[in-house]
Amino acid sequence: MSAFDEYSEILQFDYPLAGRTWLKVGGPAQMYAEPRSIDELQGLVMTAESEGMPVRVLGGGSNLLVREEGVSGLVIHLNADHFGEITVEGTTIHAGGAALLSSVVSEGVKAGLAGLETLVGIPGTIGGAIKGNAGSRHGEIGEFVSSVDVMTLRGERFTRSGDELTFGYRFSSVNELLVLGAELSLKPGDAEELARRMRQIWITKKATQPYSFQSAGCIFKNPRGLSAGVLIEKSGLKGTRVGGAEVSDRHANFIVTNEGATSADVRNLIDLIKSQVHDKHGIELELEIQVW
Ligand SMILES: Cc1cc2nc3c(=O)[nH]c(=O)nc-3n(C[C@H](O)[C@H](O)[C@H](O)COP(=O)(O)OP(=O)(O)OC[C@H]3O[C@@H](n4cnc5c(N)ncnc54)[C@H](O)[C@@H]3O)c2cc1C
Repeated sequence: MSAFDEYSEILQFDYPLAGRTWLKVGGPAQMYAEPRSIDELQGLVMTAESEGMPVRVLGGGSNLLVREEGVSGLVIHLNADHFGEITVEGTTIHAGGAALLSSVVSEGVKAGLAGLETLVGIPGTIGGAIKGNAGSRHGEIGEFVSSVDVMTLRGERFTRSGDELTFGYRFSSVNELLVLGAELSLKPGDAEELARRMRQIWITKKATQPYSFQSAGCIFKNPRGLSAGVLIEKSGLKGTRVGGAEVSDRHANFIVTNEGATSADVRNLIDLIKSQVHDKHGIELELEIQVW
């Protein structure tokens, strides 16, 4: 008899995570579950807490590198069918933590609400976007977040708003286990004009980033006032390969994985980039992606 027996219908053991990430490498999760309701989610989190089992949350897997040995403990994935609702009310959008950011962006533009169109082309979920304050030089999601519903490691639920929300460059003060949903406050705009702006940003992004390859977006954060991509390119690393992992020749801050790539290839390439950039420019690059 195990404390997790109650969740046997949704629990999977030794669950392969590679296919759930955009880099498509890495090992399994000891336990994996997609809860079907908020009560089931809460019960599962509380059971894991009482069993001393570490819990991680997987969103769209677009900013994630899983190690070859996989992860011990429980990985929870919020399924969009149960946690992905998007509703528009006046100038406010309510989005579930599992809603795709791309769907929220297009709902906003369609409703003539300005702000989110700058986030076009960023894969992943609302939960992942809020955790890392996803964005670019055009804008970041944190500018529009007015409240966030969260669940703690102990299964407690509450809403963060006002002063309890701070966002910075790839940083968010939301440090609870789970983002269950969020409210985004936008400004009225012209739907056609917003759609035009969104298309323009998307065209630029597609031309400068390796969208048709497997990647996790930018690997490193930009050091203050500098571009990590430029530093990597100036270090002569574009196109450098370790096994099946390669520095993109379109954007040097992207690592793309080719067939046969392993998680170790990606990590070894990361180490190589860090040491070369440090040797040539004296700068310590910091990871933007999450490594499990
Ligand atoms: C081609 C490409 C382009 C990209 N362009 C950009 C860009 O322009 N700007 C940018 O900022 N990023 C970019 N990214 C990176 C990535 O899309 C973002 O970081 C995205 O917000 C990650 O969301 P996700 O749901 O995939 O999170 P995941 O990769 O699944 O997880 C990332 C982190 O968020 C946490 N997390 C995920 N969901 C939740 C939740 N519901 N509750 C609590 N924690 C959660 C995870 O535990 C993990 O720590 C790009 C990635 C790719 C592949």
